[in-house]
Amino acid sequence: MNGKVAFITGGNRGIGLETARQLGELGATVVIGSRDLEKGKVAADTLRSEGIQAECIKLDVKLAEDLQAAYTFFEQRYGKLDMLINNAGIQIEIEDLAPINETSTVSPAVMRETFDANFFSMVELTQLLLPLIRKSSAGRIVNVSSALGSNTLHANPDAQIYDVKLLAYDSSKAAMNTFTTHLAHELKDTPIKVNSAYPGWVKTPMGGKYADMDLEDGGKTSVMLATLPSDGPTGKFYHMDTELPW
Ligand code: NDP
Repeated sequence: MNGKVAFITGGNRGIGLETARQLGELGATVVIGSRDLEKGKVAADTLRSEGIQAECIKLDVKLAEDLQAAYTFFEQRYGKLDMLINNAGIQIEIEDLAPINETSTVSPAVMRETFDANFFSMVELTQLLLPLIRKSSAGRIVNVSSALGSNTLHANPDAQIYDVKLLAYDSSKAAMNTFTTHLAHELKDTPIKVNSAYPGWVKTPMGGKYADMDLEDGGKTSVMLATLPSDGPTGKFYHMDTELPW
């Protein structure tokens, strides 16, 4: 992994920071995108104190100027990007009162805010950075999705997630999964691999304290997909080494 450069959005905390740590421990140079530059710097300092080559840039995925600045940073500093981990994400429905977040009641504002952060920005960033990923000998794009983005699991009454229905969040991750299959198809004759990751139900501010997975394991699926060998899968959806249905 020496000489490889990874960019992790929402890398200042949670699963993103842990993913940066694990990729850094494998020898990659990791660049954390953080919408709060100060928080990102603290996270990068922590990683550097652990012997990892880490940097931080300001990236609010909803700000077009930040996306453009990220392109300029990688273009000028590295001339390429080996791994893009689209990890930044929000889940705002549960922060409000449940009755207004039913499928029949969730507001257009919540739908739009969620899609802006989880889908439109992620597509725009990936499109911008793709020319630099094409310059890598083994480009890897990891879209951090969720089992809640699987329509197949939602339609299965026996699946564990059957009772959790968050229309805005779930559909934004389903849309992300569509982006994964479509981009993988477009890039099928290149070395670039594009996959969706379900990290698991992980103890973070988003996952909550009842989550069954610790951070260390929560980073593993993204790291596995970011470091796939040349004969590895593309256009797939994984949790650890298990393939998930769309
Ligand atoms: P956290 O809430 O702990 O972290 C989310 C990260 O995304 C933070 O760094 C946050 O920045 C960043 N972020 C949010 N909005 C923006 C934005 N507009 N621009 C840039 N960064 C932003 O969540 P997790 O670590 O748990 O989640 C990481 C990913 O994993 C998400 O995509 C989530 O959907 C997915 N996931 C998580 C699961 C879990 O159980 N935890 C389960 C399934 C999927 P800031 O610190 O500034 O808020």
